[in-house]
Amino acid sequence: MPSKLFAILKLKCPQCRKGNLLVGNPYQLRNFNKVNDYCPHCKLHFKIEPSFFYGSMYVSYGLGVGISIAIYILLLLFGLAQGMIRNFIIISISLILLMPYINALSKVIWANLFFKYKPNSDN
Ligand SMILES: [Zn+2]
Repeated sequence: MPSKLFAILKLKCPQCRKGNLLVGNPYQLRNFNKVNDYCPHCKLHFKIEPSFFYGSMYVSYGLGVGISIAIYILLLLFGLAQGMIRNFIIISISLILLMPYINALSKVIWANLFFKYKPNSDN
């Protein structure tokens, strides 16, 4: 049984924690931001209402702020935080590179707020 954190980080279905929530890899630009209509494993219908995943933008914002702070702390710890503009550029580039994963992660976290884990949901 995969843990909730592990299932979220691996972008799995909130109900069975086995099927993928996204159509493809977050960095695969052809399927960028596309969510499966149904879980490929347990057939859970992900889009319970139109524009359901728009709400994940709130989660995405929170993740972005959190990751920015974490990067700044890492820069301080390694003595690399030299100058406001340099820090800003490093944080911006990091966020741009992480953006597809942050986006996917926020959708999985959003879905986890609405669906409960059912260990025996193997249809
Ligand atoms: Zn599933």
